[in-house]
Amino acid sequence: MASEERAKDFIREIIDEDIRTGKYGGRVHTRFPPEPNGYLHIGHAKSICLNFGIAEEYGGKCNLRFDDTNPLSEGKEYVNSIMEDIRWLGFDWEDRLFFASDYFDKMYEYAVQLVKAGKAYVDDLSAEEISEYRGTLTKPGKESPYRNRSIEENLELLERMKAGEFGDGEKVLRAKIDMSHPNMNMRDPVMYRIIHASHYRTGDKWCIYPTYDWAHGLEDSIEGITHSICTLEFENHRPLYDWFLDELGIYHPQQIEFARLNLTYTVMSKRMLKELVEGGYVNGWDDPRLPTISGMRRRGYPPAAIRNFCNRIGVSKVNSTIPFEFLEHCVREELNKTAPRFMGVLNPLRVVIENYPEDKVEEMEAINNPEDPSAGTRKVPFSKILYIERDDFMENPPKKFYRLAPGREVRFRYAYLVTCTDVVKENGKVVELRCTVDPETRGGNAPDGRKVKSTIHWVSAAHAIDAEVRLYDKLFTVEDPAGEKEDFKNFLNPESLKVLSSCKVEPSVKNLKPFDRFQFERLGYFCIDPDSSPDNLVINRTVKLRDTWEKIRSKQGSTFSNA
Ligand code: ATP
Ligand code: MG
Repeated sequence: MASEERAKDFIREIIDEDIRTGKYGGRVHTRFPPEPNGYLHIGHAKSICLNFGIAEEYGGKCNLRFDDTNPLSEGKEYVNSIMEDIRWLGFDWEDRLFFASDYFDKMYEYAVQLVKAGKAYVDDLSAEEISEYRGTLTKPGKESPYRNRSIEENLELLERMKAGEFGDGEKVLRAKIDMSHPNMNMRDPVMYRIIHASHYRTGDKWCIYPTYDWAHGLEDSIEGITHSICTLEFENHRPLYDWFLDELGIYHPQQIEFARLNLTYTVMSKRMLKELVEGGYVNGWDDPRLPTISGMRRRGYPPAAIRNFCNRIGVSKVNSTIPFEFLEHCVREELNKTAPRFMGVLNPLRVVIENYPEDKVEEMEAINNPEDPSAGTRKVPFSKILYIERDDFMENPPKKFYRLAPGREVRFRYAYLVTCTDVVKENGKVVELRCTVDPETRGGNAPDGRKVKSTIHWVSAAHAIDAEVRLYDKLFTVEDPAGEKEDFKNFLNPESLKVLSSCKVEPSVKNLKPFDRFQFERLGYFCIDPDSSPDNLVINRTVKLRDTWEKIRSKQGSTFSNA
């Protein structure tokens, strides 16, 4: 959907108003600020589409900034994966790649400024004591006995903290605000803590590291951000964001909060995703079952489908959970327009065409994409021995089963009308069908106009390529695994991955490269897995063909605007 069609959300309304009043001289400058402590997930995609999308729409800019203020959990692998994922989604930060760690000196200067103004102090209380002294929502906090140190003493202690004279947790720098403030975040929040750990960029230069609340507004201010868009849980951190910038008297962006994306049947926190990856519950951050961007790429989701999904769910101030089926709906919609069609058989059953010559091969003409005539046609070889889907045959078909059965004629797609004449069994199991073609029906239609009730797909045994096909299902068996009382890992779906190792696919599939997306007619959308090699074709099923979104939408009513 074009952005023009979308109703303006509250964030764009705020920006319109700021442009009208000239608040930032008409500038629009956003940022996407990931912490490089994990791979991006589809929730981040929502934030990326929003921040980069707004910059694009208003002729503004969007920075990529790594919020790398915690040396214990961050690293280069994450930085690289995040950049790759953003580019893949189709966004460009141009020359605006920034790292919070580049601002550590500047942040320290600002801290000294607050200490000199009597607005920050060094505290010797332990983390437990600090949290105990903080009070509760109903009980005011208690001032630390170290709160009224002189400015000189604070300056000296801060300098010594920075110089590495104290151990982890021995001291912190805190803002001096109000220990009985109704907003707990304003009860003398911690600005710096001592962590003797190497940082992946600044090495051992620092042993004090800024907290999110202290650092984030400074980063925005230094970069001249106009609208600092973040998720709802930061709403009651905004007074603190504003306090720091006002006390320092520096350039002051506007923080705006929106509801984070939640999806059914998955988890969306980096901590939980990391647990799944590191615990070996999935095969890496790019496991196609994960809601990570790299997982979805490997699964075969097109970036345009993810962008479209993010635009259509919109932004609001109210938390909600989007049905997974809507994401799949967006994926199908995109693939239907763009994915070339092929024939592939997942559970092969051998078919011998008795009246077809042994060494004859006909090249049948097949349409590459009925939705896109410019995609043209291709040739598919037809011969005496074929494979069809085991499910497309029943020896004793019930009333509603119209596919192949003994004595019945069906259409073999793009080829002939075929009749099953005999069934070969071994130990009671059907292992082969004997069939005949009507030679008058080449292409699939009878000159006498007789109709068949179904069309099935097939591949020629002599020409087929062997493939492993990986079928994915929901990763969890419950809608909100993170909301359950038990550990979320207890709700993993044991059937989330099924590997079929004796699939047969038409020969043109060998021209595809890893990550190429396509449809196997009647089966779903698929893509080539990067594990594939020339003699070991590995294919992922992206999504089944049948769309269940409409049913879910009409049942529960849509919770977002552009569904
Ligand atoms: P998580 O909670 O999954 O660990 P995070 O918020 O800690 O994520 P960051 O790297 O700090 O991850 O996030 C970068 C940006 O992405 C932030 O601006 C954050 O608000 C946004 N973001 C993270 N998760 C979501 C989500 N589910 N929906 C929308 N935006 C999100
Ligand atoms: Mg975070």
